[in-house]
Amino acid sequence: MKYTTDSELASKLVELVGEGKVADQEYILASYSMDVSPEPRRRPDVVVRPFSTEEVSKIVRFAFENSIPVVPTGGRTSMCGASIPQRGGILLDMTGMQKVIELNKEEMYVTVECGITWGHLISILKEEGFKLGFRGPYSGTAATVGGSISSNSIGYGSCRWGQAPAGLLGLTVVLPNGNIARTGSQALIYANPFNRYNMGPDLTGLFCGDHGTLGVKTEATLSIHLIPEHAEHLAYGFEDVEKACQFFCDVQKHEVAEDIVLIGETGSLEYIIEGFNDMFPGLNAVVIVIIEENCSGAARAKAELVAGLASKHGARSIGDLYAKIHWTFGMFEDIHPFFQLGMWTPECHNLPSHRIAEKILEFKKLYTKLRLREKGYQPVIAAMANNNNSVSFVAHVYYDVRSSESKRTALDFWEQGMERDLLEGGVPYWSGTSWLRHLRGKLDPGYVELYRAVKQA
Ligand SMILES: Cc1cc2nc3c(=O)[nH]c(=O)nc-3n(C[C@H](O)[C@H](O)[C@H](O)COP(=O)(O)OP(=O)(O)OC[C@H]3O[C@@H](n4cnc5c(N)ncnc54)[C@H](O)[C@@H]3O)c2cc1C
Repeated sequence: MKYTTDSELASKLVELVGEGKVADQEYILASYSMDVSPEPRRRPDVVVRPFSTEEVSKIVRFAFENSIPVVPTGGRTSMCGASIPQRGGILLDMTGMQKVIELNKEEMYVTVECGITWGHLISILKEEGFKLGFRGPYSGTAATVGGSISSNSIGYGSCRWGQAPAGLLGLTVVLPNGNIARTGSQALIYANPFNRYNMGPDLTGLFCGDHGTLGVKTEATLSIHLIPEHAEHLAYGFEDVEKACQFFCDVQKHEVAEDIVLIGETGSLEYIIEGFNDMFPGLNAVVIVIIEENCSGAARAKAELVAGLASKHGARSIGDLYAKIHWTFGMFEDIHPFFQLGMWTPECHNLPSHRIAEKILEFKKLYTKLRLREKGYQPVIAAMANNNNSVSFVAHVYYDVRSSESKRTALDFWEQGMERDLLEGGVPYWSGTSWLRHLRGKLDPGYVELYRAVKQA
């Protein structure tokens, strides 16, 4: 780095973007040294909060010319250390860029600045009668469109619509040298950003899941859809976890649901709905199915099909309360109560759906063998449907941050879990320091070479 002191660096950045957007006070650097993962804190040298693509471009160009690392961040809700700066440098806080640039109701797209949160965008669209397909991760009141696209998030609506990048029509990206590139149909200077796949390769896809390594996303165009008039919120309880998993796969294969979630550890439902276990004794798993349709007959027919599958698999309807909490008034909030349990050790990853039962049983066996529940750890086991064949599989424990013994045990369990997930064919959709430790030596060499070549270019 040519700038010998942090304050010299900060002054130079103020010259580039103006006052009020650059900070290097210790307490601010400390607050930007972490995300929501259990990874160790690391401080950036300086934080910049830009408000336009041009400002991002100036900062990135300057950093490139002076070999200063840049880490773009959104809500910093990464669960795997992806938004922690590993080598100091400039942390770009993208949350200053949160405007809706264009809502095109004829061409059915919305263009936004990438620092907007999913919650904010959804509420704006709702007022206008529109919804998104993928509606954000469970952290959607803090997670940003740019952060989720950069980490291939799975979440609300993934069953029908796929992962965060699936509804993406184009991006504006500041490349590592500071140049600005537009992808999708807007690459043609006369066209609107209404279509993703055009005259050349899908360069939008290059930046999806890149964790900011290939550029800083400043604007994204997403498909929008009419808010459906009819919705069905269904929830079923199961005594037998394997049957719950079979039901889940069956519904997913029939492609009738907007969203399907399985909770494989009903102890954790007690944190969301107090008294759940007294109301529904003997249940060991719950599956939620959400249906949305523009036509009431279609919604009803789908609900009937799901009810038929439920009775085939021995399910018990548990009413619509939990499904409504999940999909309507509790959206983005249903997992917050788990934080009463302490710090989590998340190892969410993509898994073929037919393997959920095997993974749950294996996790529970290990958990019992290590007597973790007796030692005060609470497990959470869940699966969120992704397309018609896979899930984001979530199995983690929470630990008491005040106890170093508790932390050590939970972190050991976590590291072993991530290693096992990869060896058994699971695929992380995030990278970040947590997964990178385990990915080494397990990736196809050609993939690694190609990724490096793209980065160097
Ligand atoms: C309560 C809770 C629930 C969660 N639920 C889910 C869930 O259901 N599904 C899920 O996938 N994840 C979930 N997460 C993890 C996390 O919230 C998501 O991965 C989310 O998409 C990250 O968005 P963010 O804006 O916070 O990104 P950050 O954490 O700020 O960044 C994530 C990565 O993207 C990069 N990045 C951020 N913005 C940009 C940009 N504009 N341009 C280029 N790169 C950028 C960062 O460098 C980093 O590598 C959850 C987290 C919490 C705390």
